Amino acid sequence: MAEIILSLSDVTKIYGKGETEVIALKDIDLVFEQGEFAAVVGPSGSGKTTLLNIIGCLDSPTRGELSWRGAPMKSMNRTQLAAYRRTHVSFVFQSYNLIPVLTVVENVEMPLLIEGMHDRAAIRERALSIVEMVGLSDKANRYPTELSGGQEQRVAIARALVKKPSIVLADEPTANLDSHTAGEIIKLMREINEKTQTTFLFSTHDPRIMELAQRVITLRDGQIERDERGRHESLEQRTLQDRRKKCTAAQTENPHHRNRAHGRHCRFHHVPVALGGDGQSHDRCRDRLRQQFDKPAIQRIS
Ligand code: ADP
Ligand code: MG
Repeated sequence: MAEIILSLSDVTKIYGKGETEVIALKDIDLVFEQGEFAAVVGPSGSGKTTLLNIIGCLDSPTRGELSWRGAPMKSMNRTQLAAYRRTHVSFVFQSYNLIPVLTVVENVEMPLLIEGMHDRAAIRERALSIVEMVGLSDKANRYPTELSGGQEQRVAIARALVKKPSIVLADEPTANLDSHTAGEIIKLMREINEKTQTTFLFSTHDPRIMELAQRVITLRDGQIERDERGRHESLEQRTLQDRRKKCTAAQTENPHHRNRAHGRHCRFHHVPVALGGDGQSHDRCRDRLRQQFDKPAIQRIS
């Protein structure tokens, strides 16, 4: 088991008082390990933003306890809490929040300047390496207005990563993006998660995006309805699962696939599949299937 970095115990958040009281979170118990890639899902108003804000210390719980690497946050003094916020957590927002008068690389440098780093050359080098990690080297000197929404969010992710946080909190990071770009952004976060072991916790409404998560925490009316872990271990495994599903579907459709077995790598579906044991390449197999399936249905049945 990886190291537990963050735990929440009995966390409750109540906004307002009396008649206007809203229980945004109720008795939340959660534990996060280093390197997790987790989604928080649930309908609007279920408490996702409140949960992320409390974890990021943008808000404090009404009751309950948060601990960072075993140390209760209540017992931390202001300096320690500020250090947690500055060093260990980063935010990615739905609306990117880039500074329009700064270039891509200057936006990414910002957290390092705020942190008090002085060495300009080192700052630039670090920022450029992260800009490269998010695939925007060629846009390093552009301004946010010259970028697409997906590219802006990549910059925001780079900015969140530059101080090498332990955990990145992303509140609906893909809500303003089309579904293809949204998928790419989540895959990028997953790649970085696998490469750097940075923990990611993001909220989303999009079922296709939550599919990419390794853990899915479902909130309803401020409570945890479900907490599914170990869905798949890596992006590669996820992609393989996707292809297998497609391949299995193809096999079910095509009796030829279903019935024969060999250990070859299927070039059509990119996974090992059962094909004829007579040494045919899959291309030939596919051609034969095409001939067979391109025939009119009535002939096929006969
Ligand atoms: P989600 O992000 O899942 O949409 P939120 O965490 O934003 O949910 O909100 C959870 C509940 O808390 C909602 O009923 C919301 O209206 C309420 N809420 C959130 N922030 C505040 C606030 N600052 N003051 C009062 N009520 C709030
Ligand atoms: Mg929200």
